[in-house]
Amino acid sequence: MVDRAVSAAWFERARRVIPGGVNSPVRSFRSVGGHPYFVSRGEGAYVWDADGHRLLDFVQSYGASILGHAHPAVVRAVSDAAARGTTFGAPTEGEVLLAEAICARVEGCEQVRLVSSGTEAAMSAIRVARGFTGRSRVLKFAGCYHGHSDGLLAGGGSGVATLGLPDSAGVPAAAVAETLVAPYNQVPEIDDRVACVIVEAVAANMGLVAPESGFLQGLRDACDAAGALLVFDEVITGFRLGEGGASGWAGVRPDLWCFGKVIGGGLPVGAFGGRSDVLESLAPVGPVYQAGTLSGNPLATAAGLAVLESMGPLSYRTLCERVARFGPALAAVLTQALVKAGIEDDSGRQLEAQVPVMGPLFGLFFAPVGSAPVHDYDGAVASASTGVYARLFRSMLDRGVALAPGPYEVAFPSMAHGDAELDRTLDVASEAIVDAVAR
Ligand SMILES: *Cc1c(COP(=O)(O)O)cnc(C)c1O
Repeated sequence: MVDRAVSAAWFERARRVIPGGVNSPVRSFRSVGGHPYFVSRGEGAYVWDADGHRLLDFVQSYGASILGHAHPAVVRAVSDAAARGTTFGAPTEGEVLLAEAICARVEGCEQVRLVSSGTEAAMSAIRVARGFTGRSRVLKFAGCYHGHSDGLLAGGGSGVATLGLPDSAGVPAAAVAETLVAPYNQVPEIDDRVACVIVEAVAANMGLVAPESGFLQGLRDACDAAGALLVFDEVITGFRLGEGGASGWAGVRPDLWCFGKVIGGGLPVGAFGGRSDVLESLAPVGPVYQAGTLSGNPLATAAGLAVLESMGPLSYRTLCERVARFGPALAAVLTQALVKAGIEDDSGRQLEAQVPVMGPLFGLFFAPVGSAPVHDYDGAVASASTGVYARLFRSMLDRGVALAPGPYEVAFPSMAHGDAELDRTLDVASEAIVDAVAR
């Protein structure tokens, strides 16, 4: 094991004053073992930990960074904006420019309101959907994550659409009493009590799970029939799968979108948008209240604009092509080692690696040889329970490649991850997996 004494000491200090030492639970390494590395700086595809080790970083702030760390265009935009003042509580030009940039790229998204996180975006989209339709129920899918607001913290795996039970202590049953949870990739029945269906059009919080053919269109049709709104939570996929995000990629248009991560260029930003007749239910035009002291913050809009302006169609194509070549090669080296070592699941079935690739995202599942691609939360849970991800994670980290510290996360290659970085990742993975399965 690589020695990380400085990080360990900081983690000790952190645990005294921050619960669990982290400000977001996955960072704690709880599900992969060991303690987190503290990051002292990042540049492009790499971060340097507090112990001075360079790591090839596939976390990229869980997708908030698509150009790579400390990209010169973003650094310049943020420092120029900071010099002009960081927040005013009055409208600024940057908000208009970022909203225009979002609406210009996402077909059917006529208006957006800026907020400060993906959580706020999803929470507010639900509120506006309820206010617009005058209905209370929300339907979400097991394994999809929409931030940590009370009403959306339901959704552990369940076989059929059921009324939600809270996923967290502190969320009263009443807060999720109007939240229905259905299995991903099955079009649920919805009735006229449902205000909206919210979905990750490409699911990226249970590993990477693609929508099966007809699923998104089926949701569109079911919503139209019931008079419910369709909400795509594109906090990960927006401006990442391509300029038009998942809706552009799938050719299915929701009524509302949630954005975050990429559009903030590494600063705290979210947005929700969609049809202007729906968005104009918001105060001050309509009766749905929603607000924010730092919403549309000048630093955040400057960073977001710099990113969107740097990412043209060619950038997306280059990045997607690179990852499309890499994914199958990674699956092959991992599977080869798993088979050679005879690694099996609890039922004695030989495991292989699945590396789903969607646009520039890739995921990692471990499933019995020959099984269909993981297509829902139950499959993702079965993969995580093999424990292979956690072992591979530690073994890769020891060799200087940082995957996300949890089996339900996806990998976020950035524009700075060139063929050299991806080739090196393959070499490291083929060594690391041998070690991981021997442990
Ligand atoms: C990250 C994420 C969120 C929550 O965004 P935060 O900025 O962490 O609040 C919501 N939805 C999806 C799909 C996400 O991946």
